[in-house]
Amino acid sequence: MEQKKKVLIVEDEKNIVDILRFNLQREGYDTLEAYDGAAGLELALQENPDLVLLDVMLPKMIGFDVCQELRAKGSSVPVIILTAREEEADKVLGLEIGADDYITKPFSMRELMARVKANIRRTGMQPGAGSTMDAGGGLLVNTDTYQVTKGGKVIDLTQREYELLAFLASHPGKVYSRIDLMEQVWNYGYVGDDVRTVDVTVRRLREKIEDNPASPAYILTRRGVGYYFSAD
Ligand code: CA
Repeated sequence: MEQKKKVLIVEDEKNIVDILRFNLQREGYDTLEAYDGAAGLELALQENPDLVLLDVMLPKMIGFDVCQELRAKGSSVPVIILTAREEEADKVLGLEIGADDYITKPFSMRELMARVKANIRRTGMQPGAGSTMDAGGGLLVNTDTYQVTKGGKVIDLTQREYELLAFLASHPGKVYSRIDLMEQVWNYGYVGDDVRTVDVTVRRLREKIEDNPASPAYILTRRGVGYYFSAD
């Protein structure tokens, strides 16, 4: 029997936790709950959940700090930030510090469940179906182990960064619009302002894999169209 996926809810509003727990369990997920940031961080590190739903305004430690600390400790668990405001700055900050996704409160349960599913699905994608892609310049993408190395050194990527890199690298030279990438990498069946997410993730990825992020050699921009992986 397939093991249930485990979702950690970090949220201080009890009624929201109750609704999330109810719906997640109904969809077949196990749930863990934390009501402040410090407890959330501890649970995320100890219990190794498959996904974290992370509120921003939390007692003891705000959600952004929790996410940043998780990444600093090497966790690549998918994180969806629950932001109370429709503020662009909040969204971008969340992605900058390593969150995979965000959703604005009040959210529809249907949309939230779709995001949870899309973000967890990436984790278990095609085990054993891949091998090592040589992206040139010493950059290797191992699609069996999901490990990326450059010059023999392991590069820490979030799952989303990894998926984006692996997707682009497996189609060198082909230009993808941000909408294409939202659909292919983020598994979203709709788009909107969210295409900014693609730009932020590309920027973060470049900072990690490029010798000179300002003049990238791997992930290139086709102005007005989108992004592509160098075919050289
Ligand atoms: Ca809160």
